[in-house]
Amino acid sequence: MIDYSVDAAGIATISWDMPDRSMNVMNEESMAAFNAAVDRAVADDAVKGVIVTSGKKDFLAGADLGMMLKTMPKDAAGIFAFVQQLQQQFRDIETCGKPFAAALNGTALGGGYELALACHYRVAADNARALFGLPEVQVGLLPGGGGTQRLLRMIGIREALPLLLEGRKVDPGKALSLGMIDKVVPADELLAEARRWLLEEGAKNAVKPWDVKKFRVPGGTPMTPKGLETFTAGNAMLREKTYGNYPAPIAIMSCVYEGSMVDIDAGLRIEARYFTSLLTGDVAKNMIRTLFFSMGEANKLGRRPAGVPPTEYRKVGVLGAGMMGAGIAHVAALAGLEVVLLDTTLEAAGKGKGYSEGLLAKRVSRRRMSVEGKAAVLGRIHPTTAYEDLAGCDIVIEAVFEDRAIKADVTARAEAAMPETAVFASNTSTLPITGLAEASSRPENFIGLHFFSPVDRMPLVEIIRGGKTSDACLARAMDFVRAIRKTPIVVNDSRGFFTSRVFATYVTEGIAMLAEGVNPALIDNAGRMAGMPVGPLALADEVSIDLMHKVRKQTMADLGDAYRPSPADPVVDRFVETLGRIGRKAGKGFYDYPAEGKKRLWPGLAEQFPVSADQPSADEVIRRLMHIQGVETARCLEEGVITDPRDADVGSILGWGFAPHYGGVMSMIHTIGIDDFVAECDRLAQAHGPRFAPPASLRAMADRGETLYAA
Ligand code: NAD
Repeated sequence: MIDYSVDAAGIATISWDMPDRSMNVMNEESMAAFNAAVDRAVADDAVKGVIVTSGKKDFLAGADLGMMLKTMPKDAAGIFAFVQQLQQQFRDIETCGKPFAAALNGTALGGGYELALACHYRVAADNARALFGLPEVQVGLLPGGGGTQRLLRMIGIREALPLLLEGRKVDPGKALSLGMIDKVVPADELLAEARRWLLEEGAKNAVKPWDVKKFRVPGGTPMTPKGLETFTAGNAMLREKTYGNYPAPIAIMSCVYEGSMVDIDAGLRIEARYFTSLLTGDVAKNMIRTLFFSMGEANKLGRRPAGVPPTEYRKVGVLGAGMMGAGIAHVAALAGLEVVLLDTTLEAAGKGKGYSEGLLAKRVSRRRMSVEGKAAVLGRIHPTTAYEDLAGCDIVIEAVFEDRAIKADVTARAEAAMPETAVFASNTSTLPITGLAEASSRPENFIGLHFFSPVDRMPLVEIIRGGKTSDACLARAMDFVRAIRKTPIVVNDSRGFFTSRVFATYVTEGIAMLAEGVNPALIDNAGRMAGMPVGPLALADEVSIDLMHKVRKQTMADLGDAYRPSPADPVVDRFVETLGRIGRKAGKGFYDYPAEGKKRLWPGLAEQFPVSADQPSADEVIRRLMHIQGVETARCLEEGVITDPRDADVGSILGWGFAPHYGGVMSMIHTIGIDDFVAECDRLAQAHGPRFAPPASLRAMADRGETLYAA
């Protein structure tokens, strides 16, 4: 677990090497072993200095969050004491009188980097893959192992704050220039350099600058003009970005502000207090549940049907080289797969490959890829018009026009050329999979793989099981999603599946309010205040209003009398049929998009939808926009479209940016409490219509006092 040795010159080496794990992590066991090794080195008079390093390819990934949450006390006083104890262990390293050098062979994040901060010297191997940083804010926490206090004292407020607030991870070169580490050397000189430093410079550097009298924070405290500027501007920027929904960045600002004016021990106490307040709050719980546990589970294919041998993907076919097809081809080639990219003309197929070339060129210019690397990826994309080229494909994904007849035609042609056992996937965004599978001679191998645009940046793939899709097909589709390094959620067939169906309610509720005379600025601001990335009207423009119009016409044709009209329908009709304002792509929708400058709400809106004198509160608008998504998700759960609330949480955050501080749409209901949520939906249904009526199953859960997640 922790190797210990001492050489003839009195340099002890403590090396993290946890068995049966690819990464070292801090948990109860490993920390106990590490602390024992530290005590041994400190107590041994023969030891003059200590190297802390790792026997794995990375240094230390930080705390094992799962284990930590299990072993940690649940009450505030207990958490505070637990954090202080961890802080003291690092503080002991810092103040023991012997020099410690961290030899960072690879990535050191969170608690791993905090351990390096507690050492007196940090040397890193010149390892392009290595990342250093304190990403705790991304799960609603702050670095509680002294990270906020030591980074601040080492590199100053202006440099430390952005790293802490964004949770940015940087490579060795950047870390060196920021002062996060002291030196970068070739990997094979790493231990020698640590040893050299300990022998030559260690003795006179075994006390930290902040433990010497008259220490000053580099760059000054918040009381200096520059410091003041950083905090006033920083506070405003934070508010603009987060609308106060995230306590962690506010707590980080406070730790840095308050901590910079006291000594390190008081600073550590301040940090421990804020950490405790975060961990006992809802936001961190929500973010950890979804962004750490549920997402980790999804990436590990937790819901993959058992007993199906894993599929090794080598060759993939993509039908249609438009926006989506080109993006899918790109991510597959990047993941090392051979890609047959088929369109109706060689020119169209070549254009799809050109899209990938553009993205790769950007990588090269940002030095994230070599010229040879780019050539290799491009060499794997084979544009064609010939279906025979699909021979030997492990999976074929169609991304042709959203038209049943065209999709049916390409399905039959592809199936004639591809192996009988291969998966056939449709990237349709609106057409139910079970219906599309009727064009297939092998509906058990037919499945939906719903990608999001732009494919290279959007991490989610919504996997849709059709009525006849087999377990084996589902398992293999999940293997494919993992192979291209995306996160899958699995849903059952439904119109709009899960993501488009729930996302649409947010947009249409915003449009419905416009029709009622609610001020459009209030509608979109309320959306952002609720934690959504974009307001519903702006989002309608992005998606394009004519696409919404087209999808609804198709739905009406398919459903006939069963179609439930929405108050947004007449607004959409008017924008498309009468006003010709179809959204951003046309430069005009609910907003105007001038060639120069920012978008602004269309001044003509007030004439079309007069703003009524009596406006709802922002809070009421927020409730409508958020509860409508919650209630539709509850319907998806009742109908079996969603089978696990975690899929809804992960899918909502990754798919349409649903307020991450809630931990996704199901976690929102959980946080509000099912009974309060149901009661509020009843009130909204009374006021605004039956679309808010909660499904019977949710009401029953409320009656039984059940929760969606354990406490
Ligand atoms: P697109 O118009 O950009 O591309 C479609 C491509 O298919 C074109 O290159 C076209 O030449 C090609 N094509 C048409 N008929 C063909 C045929 N018979 N054989 C081979 N190629 C043919 O469309 P897109 O936005 O990439 O969408 C493609 C599919 O992905 C649609 O089903 C759409 O609903 C779905 N989708 C789109 C998005 C999105 O945001 N655009 C998101 C998810 C899913």
